Amino acid sequence: MYIVMLGKPGSGKGTVGKMLSDLLRITHISSGELFRSYIKRAGETGKKIEKYVNEGKLVPDNLAIELVEKRLLEQDCSNGVILDGFPRTVKQAEELNEFLKSNKCKIDIAVELELSDEDIIDRIVKRRVCSNVDCREVYNLEFRKPKQEGICDVCGSKLTQREDDKIETVVQRLKTYHETSEKLVEYYKKQELLYSVKLNIHSGKTSEDVAIEVKKYLSK
Ligand code: ADP
Ligand code: ZN
Repeated sequence: MYIVMLGKPGSGKGTVGKMLSDLLRITHISSGELFRSYIKRAGETGKKIEKYVNEGKLVPDNLAIELVEKRLLEQDCSNGVILDGFPRTVKQAEELNEFLKSNKCKIDIAVELELSDEDIIDRIVKRRVCSNVDCREVYNLEFRKPKQEGICDVCGSKLTQREDDKIETVVQRLKTYHETSEKLVEYYKKQELLYSVKLNIHSGKTSEDVAIEVKKYLSK
């Protein structure tokens, strides 16, 4: 099964994607995490992508496609994956389709999490992530508080704020979303693959609720 997660930065697609990956027992791939891991390793590729990520701009299509496709060829992806953050442009979506087709696979569903820009900004500035690269659990100072302030529930490491979760970068990432990635909603709608979930920060719907809802929909 191949699932694409769509939505603005900070819409919760990462958290929902991870939960779905547990529920469905398929691998979760976050392109943002993948790119940040290259940056950490500080090799040639990392240097190439660092400035885009830190400025909240998209990594060029060719490079993004190359790195994600390489990841998709790894063993743990043979039963399908949940793709979170990729595709982000129509070009990436088309390339992904071609890639899957040549491996005799296809996208089963594109899940969109809808949230207003105001809610997004509110959420991202409250977002904290575990500093342990092998854990990377995501928290929110309001909705998903760690049990102990500043400490990861899962592994006990310190929580940090992502370099690109500062307000200026968030505004840039939202701009990029509206200019480019929003078109993907239409793209998957046309192919009758779109499943949208409307959210707002006061609705009380948790990421877990959304993941369960999507799983139910898929089993119908
Ligand atoms: P968010 O969805 O919260 O913005 P991600 O972790 O998905 O965060 O992405 C972080 C950054 O990584 C993006 O701002 C962009 O620079 C880069 N990136 C991630 N996925 C892609 C992609 N598919 N194409 C180009 N750049 C990407
Ligand atoms: Zn942790």
